[in-house]
Order: sequence, then C-alpha cells, then structure tokens
Amino acid sequence: MTLDDPVAKIKGIGEKKAKLLSKLGIITIADLIYYLPRDYEAQGESVKIDGLKDGGVFNIMAVISGEPSLRRIKSGLNLAKFSLTDETGRVEAVFFNQPYLCKMYKAGDAVYVSGCVKRIGKSFQFTNPHIEKQGKQHTGVNPVYALTAGLTQKTMRLAVKAALESVRGQIAEIFPNEFRAEHRLSELNYSIYNVHFPENAEALAQAKRRLIFEELLLFNIALTERERRAETGAVMLSINDEEKACFLSRLEYKPTKAQCRVMSEIEADLRRDKPMNRLLQGDVGSGKTIPAFYAMKICVSSGYQCVMMAPTEVLAAQHFYNAQHILGDIGVNIELLTGSTPPAQRRTICQNIINGQTDIVFGTHAVLYDNVQFANLALVITDEQHRFGVGQRAMLETKARAPHTLIMSATPIPRSLALILYGKTDISVLDEMPPGRRPVKTFCVPEAKRRDMYDFLEKEIGKGAQVYIVCPLVEDGDVPGVRSSEHVFEEIKRRFADAALLHGRLKPQEKNDIIARFKTKKCSILVSTTVIEVGIDVPDATIMVIENAERFGLAQLHQLRGRVGRGKKTSYCFLMTEKSDNERLSILCKTNDGFKIAEEDLRLRGPGQFLGSKQSGMSDLYMANLIRDMAMLKQTKELAASMKASHPEIYAQWLSAAKTRFSRKMENTVIN
Ligand code: ADP
Ligand code: MG
Repeated sequence: MTLDDPVAKIKGIGEKKAKLLSKLGIITIADLIYYLPRDYEAQGESVKIDGLKDGGVFNIMAVISGEPSLRRIKSGLNLAKFSLTDETGRVEAVFFNQPYLCKMYKAGDAVYVSGCVKRIGKSFQFTNPHIEKQGKQHTGVNPVYALTAGLTQKTMRLAVKAALESVRGQIAEIFPNEFRAEHRLSELNYSIYNVHFPENAEALAQAKRRLIFEELLLFNIALTERERRAETGAVMLSINDEEKACFLSRLEYKPTKAQCRVMSEIEADLRRDKPMNRLLQGDVGSGKTIPAFYAMKICVSSGYQCVMMAPTEVLAAQHFYNAQHILGDIGVNIELLTGSTPPAQRRTICQNIINGQTDIVFGTHAVLYDNVQFANLALVITDEQHRFGVGQRAMLETKARAPHTLIMSATPIPRSLALILYGKTDISVLDEMPPGRRPVKTFCVPEAKRRDMYDFLEKEIGKGAQVYIVCPLVEDGDVPGVRSSEHVFEEIKRRFADAALLHGRLKPQEKNDIIARFKTKKCSILVSTTVIEVGIDVPDATIMVIENAERFGLAQLHQLRGRVGRGKKTSYCFLMTEKSDNERLSILCKTNDGFKIAEEDLRLRGPGQFLGSKQSGMSDLYMANLIRDMAMLKQTKELAASMKASHPEIYAQWLSAAKTRFSRKMENTVIN
C-alpha cells in the first residue's frame, strides 16, 4: 500500500466510511495519517480482570488465550471472539464486523484492551473494545479527532491505526539527517505515529514540535509560490489635478487623514508598470469604499476598464448605486452584473463590456463566469476578500494580462502576521475612523431580560431609531433552543407593526426592495439572517440585536455590530444569550477595537481555524497556531528562503511536498 492510495483500500473502510472521510477532506492514506488529533483523552480505569465491573469503561493488559474465532451470525454480520486472560481471571472480547482482527492477532499475543464492559451471566465481556498489541511503553491516552456526522472516534482511531500500519516506515522523510540534528527534529515516521498514539508525554511533545515545524515550513513555501506575480506588464494609470479635484468635490465629506494616505499609496502604485498588489485593511466602517472608488476614478480617467467584486448581490448593488453618485460623470458608464441580471440584459451588458463601452463593472462572482470578457481591463478590486477563495480571484485575473489588484478586507490581521502571510503584498491600513463615531455600547442579555429590552427598543424607535435583529442561519426547529428569523419575526410583529423580514430565500430584487424600505425609514426594524453581515450602510440604524449570539464567531459579531454606530447618536448592541458569563462574548462588551478582538479570537479558537476553507470545515493548518507559533512561522520562512538559495535540490523536494499538502487546499484558502 502507498500513501497515495485511496482510504477505501484500507481494510475495514468501505465505500460508506470513505465517503464520510472525504467530508473531512480525507481522500488518500496520506490525508488520513496527516489528519492529526484535535485532542487526547485518558482511557478508562486500568484494572486486572478480577476488578472489572458491569457497565464501566476499563483497560486491561492481557494475553490472548486460544485462537480467535470468527463466526457468521447472519448475512452481512460476523462476530470475532477473543478469549483474554491475566493472572486474576478470564474475560471475553467480541468484535462485530472486524474479521481482519482474527488475522492480526493470534494466541499468545500480549494486548491492551480498553472499552465498555458488560456482565454476561457469570462472566464479563468487552463489546467492540479498542485492542492493541503491547508495546514497550503505553501512555494511556487516546487521540480525539474532529469528526463529521456518522463517524465515531472509534472508527476514526481504527482507521488511522490501520493506515499507519499499512504504510509503516514508508513516509518519506523530507529533512536530511544533519538538518534534523541541527534543528532538533525527530524522525517523521516516528513523529506521525506518536502524535496519534503517543508512547509517552515526551515523545508526544517532540512529535508535535517536529510536525508543526514541517507544517509551517511547507505552508510558507506554498504561500511564497502562490504569490509569484508578474513584475511588469501592467498598464500605467494616472490622474490629473482637475479630475482629482472633481472626484473630491463629489464626496459628501472630507476624507480622513488615513483615507488620504491610502489614496496616495494607491495612486503611486497605479503609476507604475508593475501591477499593484495591495491589501486594504480597515475595521468595519473605517471608510474603505472611498479609496477604492478613487482607484477606479484613476483607472477610468486613464481610459481603462475596472471591475469590483462583492460577496453578495446586496453589497454589489450598494456599491453600484454609490458609484453612480460619485463616479457617474458624463461619459462614465457603470454597470451592475450579478447572478440575477436577466439574460437579455446580461447579453447587452456583456456586449458593452467587451466592446469597451462600459468603464466600470460591479458584480458578484457571477462576473467571473467565462462569457464575460473585457476590452481593456486594468484594475480588479475585491471587497471583503475573506469571502472569496484564492482560486476565484486567480480566475478573474485571467481576464487581463497583468491587472492591478486591490483587495479590501475588514478582517483585522495583526500586522506582524499579515506581513508573513501576505509576503509581497503591500498593505494599507485605515487606522482612523471617520469623525464623530462613538463606540457601540454592547451588552449580553439573558432571556429573562428580553421584555425589558423590547421596552427599550420601543422607546428608542419612538425617538427615531432603527433596529437590526440578526438570527443564526437556521430553519425553525432545526436546532433546539435556537430561534430562526421567521420565529423571531412573528414575535416581533405582534409588538412592533413596522418590522420587515429579510431572509435568504427572497429574490435579490425583493431583498433590495426591503433594504430600500429600511433605508428610507419606511420600517424601523429589520429582522434578518446574516445576509446583512457585510457592508450594508444605514446611518440611522443605531441598535443591533443578535439572537443566540454564542453561535457566532467573534469576528463575525464584530462585523455585525459594525452595522450600527455609523451616525452621531449613541448606538447599542445586544447579544442575546444564556451564556452571559461567556469569556468570548465579554470581549465584545469590553472593546470596539477590531484588532484586539481578532487577536483574542485567534487565541481562543486555537489551532488551524484561522486560515482555512469554511465550506468544508477543513483548515490548511492542522497543528500550527499562527499566533502561538508565530516565532516558528518566521523562522521557517527565513529558513525556506535560505535553503532555496543554498540547497536547491532539497528545496525542490520541499516544494513538491508543499504542493501535495496544500494545493488542493490552497485553492480554497480563504483568510478569515
Ligand atoms: P467600510 O467599507 O470600511 O466598512 P464604508 O466605506 O462603507 O466603510 O464607510 C462607512 C460609512 O462611513 C459610510 O456611511 C460612509 O459614507 C461614511 N464615511 C466614509 N468616509 C467618511 C469620512 N471621511 N467622513 C465621514 N463619513 C465617512
Ligand atoms: Mg465595505
């Protein structure tokens, strides 16, 4: 068996289990042995056989007495029976549908057995216990894996163990001996085995360190290779003073110092024939739209086309309307192209884009689809980058040879980390809020205080306030104790007549209508799922209520809260939750600083969750934690660069390892 074989080749893993494993991103044996435990748990109480009791979980050390027997009970079901003895007595272990065990074990083998014990008549029996040959040392801990519905820890442990056995000694070490000695790294086969089934605590620590080191090294290499970009070939874009003044005169307010700084950074980038590759970071509400529009203005003034992609239709439409207002001079043609643009209209728009009549295109990822071709695309802007996969962006970039790119993100990444992750990408930061903003007063509200909160809403609405109520994305009854938006809406309507409901099944046009009604104050409460999360801008909305707040990530809650606090009035955010002592949520009550929140979030969420594909729940980094292991992240980055220069043949080997490890995942890598 080889590492590239599909997991279904392992004995005991049928098609059904293989399918479940694929949900975790596990396709090959290599994927499986690199699917590292999320945690470890102590096994049951260790006893001699005469100490077993009915219904308990126990470990015993015993010898197999007599050949294991295999019996077919009925079609599709067979039973393996082991007889076990120690100096104090005798016990039976039965295994359903694991006939291979009879081949793996024979009379006289010394084994560990652990599992649930039942009394059968006068004697005891283990049913489907964990069985393992006795090694030199035994830690007494079991690996605990992240699972998916239908998969049990036991299945996972057996699968991993079988996979490890099947490729024992075959995992190719990618670190030469001297290199391992120099950096004090344990051998790979040993490390992998021990991280799943540790011999002892010291071996586990060693194994972890080696695997984190390797993971970060390869991760750095994958990042570096991903970010290789054209050095020249971009069109040079510039703007004259008159046009610049015209742009500024159309804004409703004076740009902040931070916005001015970012605009000149962008302007300088666009002047060069090296494609701009810039990340614009700024907390929710910091005003990222203005610099982005300025980039568009420069592009259009130079006679080229640009495109801006947003993650949702609502947001694309909002940008489109704003742009018409600010950029829609005589002669500038702006189009909106989304998944719901009617086919006939879509054909006309696409025509106009390809023949160069259209200057600016706003859209969702629908603009990516292949029949949209540009006449002379020079600038690509993506808003809220964390929603887009890298693969998608790469696809858009094929629409132009070496386009300038600007990525806007509200996900605050600590600067030191951003520098490592984004490498060659230039970073602009909007570190100043538009004037007059006040922190949003945030409270955790238990169910018992709901009535009081409604009273408060009523009072504030009377004074002209508008309210968002956000619910987790669930259907009623889906999850016990979680309120769906429909359910909440029904309740709210009884008390507040002018509430509106915005949910995912509405057509985009209907969504836009509801938002327009809310914007023009035709309704004062908007109940919704997280569709409003990104980008909606209603300055008079001053209250944000979040139902089942404990179900949201901190960064997401911060984004949601960013929908209020945009005007001059005091704004409030109510986190509805029974877990008011929740450490996570209390961070939000204490600070409005997105960077602090992100750091806390990273600290609490632990390894892996930071960079990864949300869709599959699979993350790029399984062992490493970018915050905790930042020093090693840096060290391995430098090491990779120096090895590339000094030992190209070793680097080449690492590169190919990085590609197999991260390529499938890199496509889906999202920064979140
Ligand atoms: P972001 O996309 O960074 O979350 P937006 O660009 O949507 O933020 O801006 C948030 C709000 O702040 C908008 O209502 C916008 O009109 C307003 N705004 C932006 N820049 C300024 C400024 N310099 N002065 C006052 N208000 C501003
Ligand atoms: Mg925005």
